Amino acid sequence: MRILIAEDDALSRTLLERTLQRSGYDVVAVADGAEALLELSSQDPPRLALLDWVMPEKDGLEVCREVRRRKDQTYTYLILLSSRESKQDIVYGLESGADDYLTKPFDVDELKARLRTGERILELEDRLVEARESMRFQATHDLLTSLWNRGVIMELVTREVARTRREGSCTAVMMCDIDHFKRINDQFGHAAGDEVLREVARRLQLSVRSYDMVGRYGGEEFLVALNRCDPGSAVSRAENLRGVIGGRPFQAGNQRLNVSISIGLALSTDFAGYSVDEILHEADMALYAAKAAGRNCVRVAAPGSRKPVENKTTESPVMMQ
Ligand SMILES: [Mg+2]
Repeated sequence: MRILIAEDDALSRTLLERTLQRSGYDVVAVADGAEALLELSSQDPPRLALLDWVMPEKDGLEVCREVRRRKDQTYTYLILLSSRESKQDIVYGLESGADDYLTKPFDVDELKARLRTGERILELEDRLVEARESMRFQATHDLLTSLWNRGVIMELVTREVARTRREGSCTAVMMCDIDHFKRINDQFGHAAGDEVLREVARRLQLSVRSYDMVGRYGGEEFLVALNRCDPGSAVSRAENLRGVIGGRPFQAGNQRLNVSISIGLALSTDFAGYSVDEILHEADMALYAAKAAGRNCVRVAAPGSRKPVENKTTESPVMMQ
């Protein structure tokens, strides 16, 4: 484990450095508070720090306060070192944000024991962060396919459509539905069905650019949004996705299956006055058309088939008596 020592007294610093190196720590030693802050703000900072209270540039308390002011970084366990040993000083030191306080001259075994406490706290912190990340993932992703879940993909598409409209470019929205998915489940079982869902998700995800979005919209329905998409190439991009699924058989357990998808495509530029929900509805209608046309094909939503809802931003006229 890496540890920072900030101590202006050269002799104490060297002593500390040797002691900690002998205990297996990877030591970074500096002589003042400014350097300490620099180290603690680096890309991969030490997570344990021993800070002398009285140092040039910035004292240990200031370093503690500044480290605690930052909210974005992982936790740093801070131990203040000082020859001040009154209760008042200890309280003051801890209130600056230090986790622990050690009075000089300190006992080596006590120092090591306190550092082990620090390491335990950091381990706990890591586990908490891990749990939080995992909860965040579960709240935003579909657990079977690891794609964005419905709520998140809707939000992302809404944001992207608004952005491409501001930029005068186009978002291509595609509703992709696995053909005869029920048959796969019925014939080969739900485990095979799940395998097919995962593989469709994987192939779709691999076939789009990093700034495009793929989400699981419903059971066997996927929503793909191509951002800043050239309207002229949208159909061929949809055909490409269709080919990626239908062009190569799937392996589910020891079964080889032929799977295909139908795609309903709607371009945000074709539906300028429409809300995202309405665009999705249009893509859905195009998907129905693709299913009706025999499946394993792409259909494009035609603008003008339905009038967009009037924008009700005009104020109602004032009633005159
Ligand atoms: Mg000092």
